Amino acid sequence: ALKLEKINKSFGQVHVLKDIDLEVTEGEFIVFVGPSGCGKSTLLRVIAGLEDATSGTISIGGRDVTATPPAKRGIAMVFQSYALYPHLDVTGNMALGLKQAGETKATIEERIAMAAKMLSLEDYLKRRPAELSGGQRQRVAIGRAIVRKPELFLFDEPLSNLDAALRMATRVEIARLHRELGASMIYVTHDQTEAMTLADRIVVLRDGRVEQVGSPMQLYNDPDNQFVAGFLGAPS
Ligand code: ATP
Ligand code: MG
Repeated sequence: ALKLEKINKSFGQVHVLKDIDLEVTEGEFIVFVGPSGCGKSTLLRVIAGLEDATSGTISIGGRDVTATPPAKRGIAMVFQSYALYPHLDVTGNMALGLKQAGETKATIEERIAMAAKMLSLEDYLKRRPAELSGGQRQRVAIGRAIVRKPELFLFDEPLSNLDAALRMATRVEIARLHRELGASMIYVTHDQTEAMTLADRIVVLRDGRVEQVGSPMQLYNDPDNQFVAGFLGAPS
């Protein structure tokens, strides 16, 4: 579904992403882990087209999208901060991207109804973000991604602002959505449990490079080094 070839990204003199190669298959759930500042969010932003890579190519579904604007990449991104529009209600927040993409009114209504049902948001559609709990806001942010029917979902620490109980409930919900939607997902987290339970494969990033890629069990049982072991709580 996604292919990254030799992706580099610099901000001025700072070389943040270094020769990143990665292939994500159809329907795969990929988790990025790595220390703060290693480039996880930057890599998601480059994949989404919110930042241009300094060099390298990105293809999605076999199409080279390196120069394609974000809205046309078939990607939807869910941020830690939710990034909802405060002046719009839940329906308005979910409709915005679809309107911009030129979808018909009927399609927009149908997609929002589907997402609201999947996320149990039916009773909140007329509320504004300020009138919702943190967990409800995060579900709206996920709903806004779902309605666009992307080929690839990008999640940047989507649960880190939620309390422990809600974090677990929402994690289970994301796993269910992944099964139901069959789309590929890339998910950034610092949470070892999220990484181990959600991932088909985990990508360990270190200082802008891919340190190791493998299934949770591979990385847990057979880490290449102490650094990888440290990230997955494996005995060393
Ligand atoms: P965290 O786990 O704390 O979210 P991260 O792995 O997501 O960290 P990034 O946000 O991708 O890290 O940042 C990687 C590096 O790139 C950091 O050194 C950061 O300071 C730098 N960086 C990110 N965005 C910019 C920018 N717009 N301009 C300059 N430097 C940036
Ligand atoms: Mg980040």
